[in-house]
Amino acid sequence: MDFRPTEHHQVLRRTIREFAESEIRPHVMQWDEAQCFPSELMPRLADLGLMGIQIPEDYGGAGMSAVDYCICIEELARVDPSVALTVAAHNGLCTAHIYMFGTEAQKQKYLVPLARGEKIGAWGLTEPSGGSDAGGTRTGSGRQDGEWVLNGAKTFTTHGSVGHVLVAMAVTDRSAGRHGISAFIIERGAPGFSPGRKENKLGMRASDTSEVIFDGCRVAEDQLLGEPGQGFVNSLQVLDAGRIGIAALAVGLAQGSHEAALRYAKERHQFGQPISSFQAIQWKLADDATAIEAARLLTYRAAMLKDLGLRTTRESSMAKLFASEIAVRVADNGVQIHGGYGFVKDYPAEKYFRDVKLTTIGEGTSEIQRMLIAREILA
Ligand SMILES: Cc1cc2nc3c(=O)[nH]c(=O)nc-3n(C[C@H](O)[C@H](O)[C@H](O)COP(=O)(O)OP(=O)(O)OC[C@H]3O[C@@H](n4cnc5c(N)ncnc54)[C@H](O)[C@@H]3O)c2cc1C
Repeated sequence: MDFRPTEHHQVLRRTIREFAESEIRPHVMQWDEAQCFPSELMPRLADLGLMGIQIPEDYGGAGMSAVDYCICIEELARVDPSVALTVAAHNGLCTAHIYMFGTEAQKQKYLVPLARGEKIGAWGLTEPSGGSDAGGTRTGSGRQDGEWVLNGAKTFTTHGSVGHVLVAMAVTDRSAGRHGISAFIIERGAPGFSPGRKENKLGMRASDTSEVIFDGCRVAEDQLLGEPGQGFVNSLQVLDAGRIGIAALAVGLAQGSHEAALRYAKERHQFGQPISSFQAIQWKLADDATAIEAARLLTYRAAMLKDLGLRTTRESSMAKLFASEIAVRVADNGVQIHGGYGFVKDYPAEKYFRDVKLTTIGEGTSEIQRMLIAREILA
């Protein structure tokens, strides 16, 4: 057991940190206020291999490990959690699903441009009537004249309005319950497929979230992804890995918020001394630093197990649950340490406070993570 980062990890962290500081930091508030998806950033993310982080080089990716992936997401989230969410959703959901379950032809056609960052991926499981209970998918798909015809809608789809390739789950056999749900690859511009309402969000405002609508949407037979009826089961496998990414996002966000609070605590004077000299402030900072380290270790452990090819359902959920919940506390402390200045937009504390809440909701709420962990430990 060796808890030290390798030379490679250190160089990777430095590279992504420098990029985030120079090319993302100056625009964070402007993108947030305008709820503007930074499409101009995508080619730069692609140059760094961040659009296909864990995809092998043969398919246009950077061929990095799951631990490397965590470092990349962490460093982006430290500066802008919205950009980290964009990268995590593109890599961890749509792109990962096609890599894990696609045919060779599907990989050549869809995975390669996604991993090179020429196309942006979206992934639709959640529906207006079913989020946590994703097995209750209602969007349906039937065969007609040698094609699949989809009807229904997905909600809260990251990249729903800016994505080029969508992987969406739809019922192909209503009598088979969860085993009657299949995955489909749908391209932007497909007949009967359109983005719906774009969400006006509390946080993560520079990431694109919208409904997608299927109204007699026709897709070719060979756009079925994975085995028929395995879409739901495969989604759970995709989420096992995806949750490690959200845990890393929470760790990076907490780190960014904590660094801002540390800086401010040393600068701000009250009663003739820096507020960092008060024990009440020191204890918050100490608790936060400790919790962030613990969350990071849980996250890296889940990633390391994934790199070893092991099943990580329990470890991914533990990492995601713990990291997201401590990140909420760290961001709350960040605002508190800034006092009134934590409540206004001149300091970064308020944005971390808004962004962080997504981490306890997306890719399975904290309640669902507890359910999954309980199921694993009681089995
Ligand atoms: C910004 C953003 C981006 C997202 N991106 C995507 C995406 O790209 N693709 C996608 O498919 N989805 C996406 N989602 C959806 C997200 O995964 C869901 O919002 C989440 O899974 C919760 O579903 P829900 O919103 O329907 O809440 P519900 O399932 O209605 O839950 C409401 C509350 O009830 C609780 N609850 C539900 N069931 C139980 C239970 N059995 N026991 C105890 N408590 C329970 C929940 O924990 C929660 O507190 C995104 C969401 C957001 C906000």
